[in-house]
Amino acid sequence: MFGKMKEYLQSELIKLQEQKLYKHERIIVSPQGAEIFVKGKKVLNFCANNYLGLSSHPDLIKAAHEGIDERGYGLSSVRFICGTQDIHKILEEKVSTFLGTEDTILFSSCFDANGAVFEPLLSEEDAIITDALNHASIIDGIRLCKAQRWIYSHGNMSDEIGLDPSTGKELKGLERCLKEAIEKGCRFKMIATDGCFSMDGDIAKLDEIVALAEKYDALVMVDDSHATGFMGKTGRGTHEFKNVMGKIDIITTTFGKALGGASGGCISGHKEIIDWMRNKARPYLFSNTVPPATVTATIKVIDLLTESTELRDKLEANTKKFRTEMSAAGFDIIPGEHPIVPIMFGKYPNCSQLAVEFANKMLDEGIYVIAFSFPVVPRGKDRIRVQLSAGHTTEMIDNAIYAFIKVGKELNMI
Ligand SMILES: *Cc1c(COP(=O)(O)O)cnc(C)c1O
Repeated sequence: MFGKMKEYLQSELIKLQEQKLYKHERIIVSPQGAEIFVKGKKVLNFCANNYLGLSSHPDLIKAAHEGIDERGYGLSSVRFICGTQDIHKILEEKVSTFLGTEDTILFSSCFDANGAVFEPLLSEEDAIITDALNHASIIDGIRLCKAQRWIYSHGNMSDEIGLDPSTGKELKGLERCLKEAIEKGCRFKMIATDGCFSMDGDIAKLDEIVALAEKYDALVMVDDSHATGFMGKTGRGTHEFKNVMGKIDIITTTFGKALGGASGGCISGHKEIIDWMRNKARPYLFSNTVPPATVTATIKVIDLLTESTELRDKLEANTKKFRTEMSAAGFDIIPGEHPIVPIMFGKYPNCSQLAVEFANKMLDEGIYVIAFSFPVVPRGKDRIRVQLSAGHTTEMIDNAIYAFIKVGKELNMI
């Protein structure tokens, strides 16, 4: 009896469209890469998580073919029944070595890894302390566990309680939350944070977080999905970038971004925690194993990144070039070192419409970028979010900057 719900959904969908919140998907008819075909038109892609340009890399495609040839298409099983092949164990070992951890457990996605990680470790007598801007999958994972919850305002390490000027709600710093959890007599305390926050491209203050965790006897969980493979001198992630390798208790990450971009994710950390997850984590026990092609291709990625830092070095150089030249051209850019580069529109009149119009004009110029407006970002923080890749050539970046300047002048922004 779909009738009543059908009417409801139809009217809600129309509302979404009226509010311009309906999500329209552009159809790509080529492999993912720096150059893609959208609606029969070749464009340069500046909005993928393909940070290292590996999504369609020939070595990965070859490794994926070998995976299918040698271990088949799928396993039709969860890991603990008959879904574990030698290659799954090899990948887990290689990821542990790469991240500098004791052990690793694979999941179908990092969304699943985050959905899995909290519930088996924490219950009513424990505390979870989470950054206000953490990824949706961390938020959902926390909802699935019974621990008491503290939310600290984004990046706020302080011992203070402040007030949000727009809502009048209390805002707490991390240290304040830790103290409150201790006052409540919590047994275990865990701090959870993204390594890199995807809207602004800012990096968690892991050095300060680790120091507070040591002071107040808490564990640290970092989701490094937007960092594994390229942040830090050898691309290990934000823990390398912030000099706290070996001090993060739990790292979750995805294979769906820099590491080839197909799918899959993991939890990595202390061997007792990983062992516990193999026995208790529900998305591991009740969901299918990662398919062989994805496993063998991800093994290839870890090998490539272990042998050479060439790709992450290239990405770093591309990021520096784009950030420097766009700032010099007069665009308002959130400073940082991450290949996520937000170009801000807040200081212009009608910034929401302007950002959308800008992105459309960029597509006409052959550059694919996306505008983010309220409510995806706070009011006045409208932006175009550019993502650099090691797959971009210098010429492609020059073309993108040229198009930004051209459209920026047309729209009287610079
Ligand atoms: C992309 C992302 C995920 C989800 O990863 P999947 O493997 O695609 O499920 C989780 N956490 C963060 C921080 C992400 O950016």
